[in-house]
Amino acid sequence: MKIDFANLQYQYQLYKQEIDEAIHKVLDKSNYIMGNEVKELEENLQTFTGAKNAITCSSGTDALLLAMMALDIKPNDEIITTPFTFIATAETIAFLGAKPVFVDIDEKTYNIDPSKIEAKITSKTKAIIPVSLYGQPANMEAIEAIAKKHNLKVIVDGAQSFGSTFNGVSDSNLGDISTTSFFPAKPLGCFGDGGAVFTNSDELAQKIKSLRVHGQSKRYHHKYIGMGGRMDSLQCAIVDVKLKYYEKDLALRQEVASKYSEALKDKELVLPFVDERATSAFAQYSIRVKKRDDIQAKLKEAGVPTAVHYPMPLHLQECFAYLGYKKGDFPISETVSEEIMSLPMNPYVSDDEIHFIANAF
Ligand SMILES: *Cc1c(COP(=O)(O)O)cnc(C)c1O
Repeated sequence: MKIDFANLQYQYQLYKQEIDEAIHKVLDKSNYIMGNEVKELEENLQTFTGAKNAITCSSGTDALLLAMMALDIKPNDEIITTPFTFIATAETIAFLGAKPVFVDIDEKTYNIDPSKIEAKITSKTKAIIPVSLYGQPANMEAIEAIAKKHNLKVIVDGAQSFGSTFNGVSDSNLGDISTTSFFPAKPLGCFGDGGAVFTNSDELAQKIKSLRVHGQSKRYHHKYIGMGGRMDSLQCAIVDVKLKYYEKDLALRQEVASKYSEALKDKELVLPFVDERATSAFAQYSIRVKKRDDIQAKLKEAGVPTAVHYPMPLHLQECFAYLGYKKGDFPISETVSEEIMSLPMNPYVSDDEIHFIANAF
């Protein structure tokens, strides 16, 4: 059996006719930048998420930058976030000259542990960036309460979690600003780079739209220092087609996840845990195992691809050595990074494949 990890080709074939038509419509008009496809996708994203404003942009990384720039994050500001995430979450904080301040994760959800946040708040703290890791929002109830008490902003890094919910609210509609990514391997992916920023504040939305085009207020008049951060018409047209089927894709991902958990329940490993207040977009189906190298090798031998998200927590990355963290500072993140392993995940993993994978352990 040859098992594909993300199975992007299969998804393209499934919607090929509609996607090809959407692409050719853009080509025929040649409105590559800020064509009507951009606005159409943004309106459909608003409808899907319930967020008042959706602003597409060049990537999930740039979405984080735009969010922080809109909130005036400046050098020496401190931003609290998790060390157990993709580099972009903390890299963008540092890129703006601000300081990432890490807080260890919850042992079950692998998301930032709210009970450890308050100890890290100082007079310089401006915002908290929870990440909805593997598709599941963090404990937003607790995080929003802390933010309110200390007058901090919340930016949700929802790069992996489009379509998930917490207390029935879309992940894109949590916090002051929420961001997502349309990188091909994310649950809702385009055919290149893309992302979006969501906010219920019209004022912030206006500013983000301006920052996205070099901070301009009108052509060649620049109110802010901004960036070239647009998502192009082609990518918007592609995501707009996929968005129509996303509810179904999401349900299939969740179904694949429960079938995995059922098939693996008697193995010696830790299954994913979803908080009862949350739903997960299952960007990844990640389990914890002892002797990960051996298990990965065994699965590879059987033809099962696996991946590790992420093998090294951010506080131990070379680029953050200047922050002065050391091994042992965030023990849960460190242990989980040594044991975590993702299995093939996409809406189309078949029952046969799930049983084959479970038997390969
Ligand atoms: C993928 C990802 C990003 C960055 O998204 P890009 O579109 O690749 O720039 C940011 N944060 C997290 C948690 C991610 O998984």
